[in-house]
Amino acid sequence: MRTLSSYLLGGWQPIAGEPTTILVNPATEEPLAAVGRAHDLGKAVAYGRDVGGPALRRLTFKERGAILQAMAKKIFEHREALLDLAVTSGGNTRGDAKFDIDGATGVLAAYAELAETLGDHPWIVEDDPASLVRTSKIRAQHVSLPRHGLAIHINAFNFPAWGMIGKAAVSILAGMPVLSKPATSTCLVAHRLAELLAEGDLLPPGAFQFLAGPVGDLLDHVGPQDVIAFTGSAAVGAKIRSHARVLAANTRVNIEADSLNAVVFGPDLESGSQLFDLAIRDCVIEMTQKTGQKCTATRRILVPEGLLDQVSEVLAERLADLAAKTGDPAAKGVRMGPLATAQQLADAREGIARLRADARVVRGDPERRAFEGVADGKGFFLEPILLAATAEAALDPASAFHGLEVFGPVATLLPYDGTLASAAAIVRAGQGSLVSTVYSDDRTFTAGAIAELAPHLGRLVINDEKNAAGAFSPGCVFPQANHGGPGRAGSGAELGGLHGLGLYMQRTAIQGGASQLARIVGARAGAGGSAA
Ligand code: NAP
Repeated sequence: MRTLSSYLLGGWQPIAGEPTTILVNPATEEPLAAVGRAHDLGKAVAYGRDVGGPALRRLTFKERGAILQAMAKKIFEHREALLDLAVTSGGNTRGDAKFDIDGATGVLAAYAELAETLGDHPWIVEDDPASLVRTSKIRAQHVSLPRHGLAIHINAFNFPAWGMIGKAAVSILAGMPVLSKPATSTCLVAHRLAELLAEGDLLPPGAFQFLAGPVGDLLDHVGPQDVIAFTGSAAVGAKIRSHARVLAANTRVNIEADSLNAVVFGPDLESGSQLFDLAIRDCVIEMTQKTGQKCTATRRILVPEGLLDQVSEVLAERLADLAAKTGDPAAKGVRMGPLATAQQLADAREGIARLRADARVVRGDPERRAFEGVADGKGFFLEPILLAATAEAALDPASAFHGLEVFGPVATLLPYDGTLASAAAIVRAGQGSLVSTVYSDDRTFTAGAIAELAPHLGRLVINDEKNAAGAFSPGCVFPQANHGGPGRAGSGAELGGLHGLGLYMQRTAIQGGASQLARIVGARAGAGGSAA
């Protein structure tokens, strides 16, 4: 069996010692590859910082944008093979795989386009010079420059392509070299992408390194100019945040973690309307795409009490259809694949048991063992599970569905009395989320939702009847919009166009005479905005 190497220090490095993990096809449990520990992570950190950093910073934003374009082209050329690999190594249906792989090229393309607007200075001019004292010609002007460190990217298992390439696109455009560590269980796709980038010589030496296998002592080598961008569980996020070296060096850390995303069926929503159908469509997509293993998946569905039976019935019917088509994604007609690992399945089943303390199962059998295209008992499958709570439990912040993210095709219906106050209280009980969605034509309700919900979210999607036909499901993360959320969601922020660059740049106020600033620093390029 093949053992995966890491691309560090300008070449492919074999593992140190014996493999630590065997990767398997989550549908069939067939072994696919082995991974193990890497050598010399301290040297790799220094190499990225000292070789990759200066090389990237010598390039203009436009030149770095051209690298992103070349990366997108290379990935696109290998799209079909990457999709196949995502199906066998990640349990993805072809649609799931496209979401991940095309999502990666989408971020590259968006940031390559942004590069065109950023001017030719080594810095981004953030604003116009500000007068400090009325009678003085001294001004202060904010500029952002790439940090002189390494961007360490630690990613979750669910998006091996989008997670790795999306973070890399922003970092490289900002001018920071990358060391990317994917989650081990699904790292075959990320590994193949790293091979493509390495063999294409698309990036300057040291600008992109790739670590397969455990994180080892990587974080023991971080310094004050480095950035750690982490996506994964709250528990590991907390470990990174409190790592002794990270604290000692005050390394910048961005955490993207768990999220109990909600959707709100507005009080005016009527069964049979286009908006109602959209809400149902989105619930099904957001419960079952990538088998519910999405940070943006819908976990809590708020429905006015009078509409609960109808929503429950329609959703159960649609999910039953998906349940009948759950199985090996390589088999014909399958529309939902397995969870990524045996551990994910065990955790999801345990999570459902905990949700059942405060909600009843409306449809689905967490213990089902027979699925399409696989031998009974093989693979890490879970059919869609829909639960429902009482209105009283929905309003109780201590209810399990407000505190526990079950990372699978699982959501809970939460009845509410149709008032904004109740809806907001229920959404807020999730303690901060990546995204929530409101379906309503009542503008007072929607405006109130923006005021009451948005501070608890990284993104708020508002859908009305007029725009229902063209609306995207809320789990689609676009590179132009902020991704990240307060509280439980990690308090991080990524993407969001120009804002995303801020993670990898240092904002500095340059203070000096007005004419000197005008000559040296220059004016804002492009459409303006802030790299933060
Ligand atoms: P995880 O177990 O926390 O692992 C995430 C990453 O951290 C993996 O690369 C893992 O490596 C690494 N890791 C493990 N221990 C570490 C340590 N002590 N120090 C540094 N890194 C360490 O999460 P997961 O199971 O892959 O992903 C599922 C979770 O991610 C869910 O909770 C989901 O909500 C969240 N997620 C959030 C977002 C978002 O944008 N907010 C997006 C996707 C997923 P190994 O795999 O080698 O252990």
